[in-house]
Amino acid sequence: EKAEIGLIGLGVMGSNLALNIAEKGNRIAVYNRTVDKTRAFYAGAGDLQKNIVPTETLSEFVAAIRPPRPIIIMIKAGDPVDQEIEKLRPYLGNGDIIIDAGNANFHDTRRRFQELEGTGLTFIGMGVSGGEEGARHGPSIMVGGTEDSYARVEKVLTSISAKYADDPCCAWLGPDGAGHFVKTIHNGIEYADMQMIAEIYGILRDGVGMSASEIAHVFSEWNNGRLNSFLIEITAKVLTATDPETGKAMPDIIVDAAGQKGTGRWSAIEAQQLAVPATVIEAAVAARCLSSMRDERKAAEPMFNKEELEFKIPPGPWLNRDLELALFAAKIAAYAQGFDVMASASEQYGWNLPMPEIARIWRAGCIIRSQFLDEITKAFSETPDVANLIVTPAFAAMVNECLPSLRRIVAAATSAGLPVPGLASALTYFDAYRQSRGTANLIQAQRDFFGAHGFDRLDGLDIHHGPWGSGAA
Ligand code: NDP
Repeated sequence: EKAEIGLIGLGVMGSNLALNIAEKGNRIAVYNRTVDKTRAFYAGAGDLQKNIVPTETLSEFVAAIRPPRPIIIMIKAGDPVDQEIEKLRPYLGNGDIIIDAGNANFHDTRRRFQELEGTGLTFIGMGVSGGEEGARHGPSIMVGGTEDSYARVEKVLTSISAKYADDPCCAWLGPDGAGHFVKTIHNGIEYADMQMIAEIYGILRDGVGMSASEIAHVFSEWNNGRLNSFLIEITAKVLTATDPETGKAMPDIIVDAAGQKGTGRWSAIEAQQLAVPATVIEAAVAARCLSSMRDERKAAEPMFNKEELEFKIPPGPWLNRDLELALFAAKIAAYAQGFDVMASASEQYGWNLPMPEIARIWRAGCIIRSQFLDEITKAFSETPDVANLIVTPAFAAMVNECLPSLRRIVAAATSAGLPVPGLASALTYFDAYRQSRGTANLIQAQRDFFGAHGFDRLDGLDIHHGPWGSGAA
C-alpha cells in the first residue's frame, strides 16, 4: 500500500514529526541522506512501523508515495534545502507539493515558491514550533503557500498539530513566505520573552541575592497567574534542577553565553527593513550577542568602579508583585512589536496576514504558548484595524495597570547596575509611543542645518528651512 505523505530528513525534528504523522493513522514514507539513520529510526518505531515505509534512495522514496504527493523536507535550513529540491525534482510529477518545514528564511521561501511556479509542482513554506516534544506530540504549524495546496494537506497537518481545547493550532496564513515569516517573528518574540525572564532572574539573583531554588519558587507562583506560560513553567523547572555531577543548582554551573541560530536576528533585521520599531526584540538579540563576548566582559569588569552600584534592591512582597507586573507589561510591548512587524510585512508582501488567527495557533504547541495569547486573539478579533495591540481597549487597560511596576523595576535595576535591556526597551517604547509631542523636531532642525533636508511646521506656514545662516555646512 502506498504512503499518503513523505518526509525527508530524520534528524531530531523530522523523526519526531514522522512518528507523530504515523501515530495519527497516516501512512508515511521516510528518507534520510544518511541511510543508517533511516534504519535506526525504523527499528525504533515500534508499533508505528505499520504506518511507516522506510526507503534508502530518492527514487524508491518517491515511488512509495501515492501521487499527487505531499513531501515534507525537514533538514538543515539554507543551501541543503535547495540541493535536496534539485535532487528530488527529477522524480516528481504534476501536482506534487514540496513542503519545507525547517526554519527557512522567508526570502528563500519566496524565491523557492517562485522557482516552482509554472512547473506543475507547488511549494509550501511551513513554520513548525514546539521543539522535539512539539514535533512528536503536537507542534504549532504556520503554513504559507497557495490556499489550494494547503487544502490538500490540511487534514494531515491538523491531525498532527497541537490542540487548544479542541482547536488545532495549525493554519494557512497566506501565500509564499507568510508561514516562515510568522515563524521567524514567533522566534523573535521568543527571544524577547526569554531575555526578559533572564533579566528578572538577574534582579533576584544579583540585586536581592536569592538562590536558584528560591527564585524557582517565585516563577512557579507566577505560573498560576497572568504570566502562566510554557516559558515561565520551564524556567521554574530549570531553576529547581540540580546537577547530578556536583549537586549544585543547574543554572549555577552553566556558562552565561547564549547561542543563537538566526531567526531572532532575522526578526530584528526585517523589523529594521520595514521601519517598524521592535526594540524589545532587537534588545534581546543584542543581549545574546553581548552574552557571548564573555572574555571581553571578564576583562572589563575590574576596570570600572563599583561604588556607584551600592544601591540594593529591598526584597519583600512589593518586589515580587512589581516584578510580576513589570514582566507582564514588558511582555505586552514585545508582542505588540512582533505583531506590528507582521502587520507591516503583510502590507509590504501582500499577504493579508490574519492576526487573530496567528495568536490563536500560538496558544498551544509552540514555545511561546500562553494564556496571554488568548487575550491577543480576542483583542485583534474585536478591533481588527487597530494600529497597535497596546491601543486596543483591553491592552491599554493592562498597560495602565502594570506600567508603574515596570517603571519602578527598571529604575531599581538600573540604580543597582543590573542590565535590563529588554525591560528598559519596553518601558521606553511605551513612553515614546504615548508621547504626542516628541523630540524629533530637534532632529529635523539638525538635519536641515547640516543637510538642508527641510522640515514640516506646526503652524502650517509654507517655509521649510531654518535661518541657520553661514553656520550651516
Ligand atoms: P538535526 O541536526 O537533528 O538534523 C538535520 C537533518 O538535516 C538530518 O536529517 C541531516 O541528514 C539533514 N541534512 C543536513 N545537511 C544536509 C544536506 N546537505 N543534504 C541533505 N540533508 C541534510 O536538525 P533538526 O531536526 O533540529 O532541524 C531540522 C530543521 O528544523 C532545521 O531547519 C531547524 O532549524 C528546524 N527546527 C528545529 C527545531 C528544534 O527545536 N530543533 C524547532 C523548529 C524547527 P544526515 O542525517 O544525513 O546528516
